[in-house]
Amino acid sequence: EAKAAGRDMARFFSPETDERVLARQTMEGQLRQALANNEFSLSFQPRLNARTRRVQGAEALLRWSNPVLGQVPPAHFIHLAEETGLIKPIGLWVLQQACAQWMLFQKQGLPEGLELSVNLSVAQLSDPELVEQLQDILRATGMPPHLLELELTESHLMDNPAGAQAQVTALKGLGLQIAIDDFGTGYSSLAYLKRFEIDKLKVDQSFVQGMLDDTADAAIVHAVIALGHTLGLKVVAEGVENLPTAQTLAALGCDELQGFCFSRPLPAEQFQEWVLAQDDKPEKRRHR
Ligand code: C2E
Ligand code: MG
Ligand code: MG
Ligand code: MG
Repeated sequence: EAKAAGRDMARFFSPETDERVLARQTMEGQLRQALANNEFSLSFQPRLNARTRRVQGAEALLRWSNPVLGQVPPAHFIHLAEETGLIKPIGLWVLQQACAQWMLFQKQGLPEGLELSVNLSVAQLSDPELVEQLQDILRATGMPPHLLELELTESHLMDNPAGAQAQVTALKGLGLQIAIDDFGTGYSSLAYLKRFEIDKLKVDQSFVQGMLDDTADAAIVHAVIALGHTLGLKVVAEGVENLPTAQTLAALGCDELQGFCFSRPLPAEQFQEWVLAQDDKPEKRRHR
């Protein structure tokens, strides 16, 4: 305890971090008000079937627009939300909002059967209330459980493997899908792949973006696809930025593609238009 306090003091009094401490305090203060002030929204990034290029689903991504700080990317505030515990109410809002929006999309004519992916934080996964909260959300929104996919990272699972395994089993019991996000970047053993009831691997975008120029990245992407398929898992590539990469991934048997090449994450209304426009394309209609 004394050691931790010492570390905090050292951090506090180090002059070069004064500014960072202040920035962090400002952000933390703003973050505490953000839910009440309605500053969060969700964007949706389409995920396509690699073979047919038809939209298969989307990932909900949190957006924060604050009057003082402007647009704050998740990479700048998710860790702070986790440290302060604010991620629990924020994450719950994301799950609620994403499922409600998804059912609204269906009412407004988007194809049935589109899958919704939502990122989960470590604090949420270890929260004993998570399963009941999800049950309530599914019941309240009418979201079909098999269309909801939760994205976890390897570190989520390795933090407390026994606890995580019990939670994943309970989530599978609700009928949900589980994906491992940023696969290949975590510090973990592969043994968890056979212990956890996982449905999907998302190859990290760092490997995908390098795969046409870097033989090591290409080898890793290739190996993850082979590993996933051998284990009976679907494999998704994220960060697909150009068509040659998309074509190579499809040729390697990758199941689904996500990236700027097809669409950036879009606000709900634009996502809806994007899906409807895709559906109207004549080359797509011929395949029906
Ligand atoms: P992630 O879950 O791996 O999400 C993918 C990130 O890659 C998104 O960034 C997305 O905009 C970006 N991306 C997608 N395609 C491309 C591409 O072709 N090129 C490039 N350069 N980037 C691409 P975003 O939205 O900034 O989110 C960053 C991270 O923040 C997410 O990574 C996720 O870990 C976290 N995050 C976002 N929303 C939530 C949330 O609701 N809850 C939690 N716990 N974490 C979230
Ligand atoms: Mg994700
Ligand atoms: Mg990722
Ligand atoms: Mg990530």
